[in-house]
Amino acid sequence: MPNKINIAIDGHSSCGKGTLAKNIAKELGYMFIDSGAMYRAVTLYLLENEISLDEVEQNPGLLLDIDIDFRLDPMKGFYNTFLNGESVEGEIRGMRVSKWVSEVSAVKQIREFLVNKQKHMGAEKGVVMDGRDIGTVVFPDAELKIFMTAEPMVRAKRRYLELKSNNVAADLQEIYENVLHRDRFDSTREISPLMQAPDAIVLNNTEMTREEQARIALTWAKGVIMAS
Ligand code: C5P
Repeated sequence: MPNKINIAIDGHSSCGKGTLAKNIAKELGYMFIDSGAMYRAVTLYLLENEISLDEVEQNPGLLLDIDIDFRLDPMKGFYNTFLNGESVEGEIRGMRVSKWVSEVSAVKQIREFLVNKQKHMGAEKGVVMDGRDIGTVVFPDAELKIFMTAEPMVRAKRRYLELKSNNVAADLQEIYENVLHRDRFDSTREISPLMQAPDAIVLNNTEMTREEQARIALTWAKGVIMAS
């Protein structure tokens, strides 16, 4: 059996990190973890329970009531996000959560809480995790780091079509502005800003199909596994 590695996939909002990470994980028989879904689930929890970010900063113990896990949907073949035992996969993707998630994920106590969980999930290796700080903070020793990007309007259109196909209400202009907002916010926040790790390989998929990018990334992953 070849050694297992961890694969970190970071990059801008809505550039297909999750799709790529899922494909790689499936092909290698690894666990896929969507770290953005964890920030989204915390956002949903705070909205539903009317807890402000000030309250969390003053009393980070409130976060201990949040349990997030991923469960395989055998019909669809991918993992759904569960918040305190309930599937929230659809809800965390809508605009209500998207509008707040960047502000929520800039809070130090929330990052510490989730980064801790994420490090734990990758301790045994064999994990593909996507996010903003995976190669820089969560798995700085990941054997393969990929940094993804694509032009903002291309990303907005993809997210629009994805939401539509899942019957979630969507407006292209609103999504485009949200993509720009999250890029700006994520890249300029004080704690763990979105940043390319110096040892990450850049994958710009503006003009690539999902299949093309998956093929390229898998070639990289298999090369690293063989060499490790
Ligand atoms: O990946 P996704 O777009 O679903 O992530 C939602 C938001 O969560 C991002 O815009 C970013 O603000 C935050 N995030 C983060 N660190 C991560 C993953 C996501 O700050 N590792």
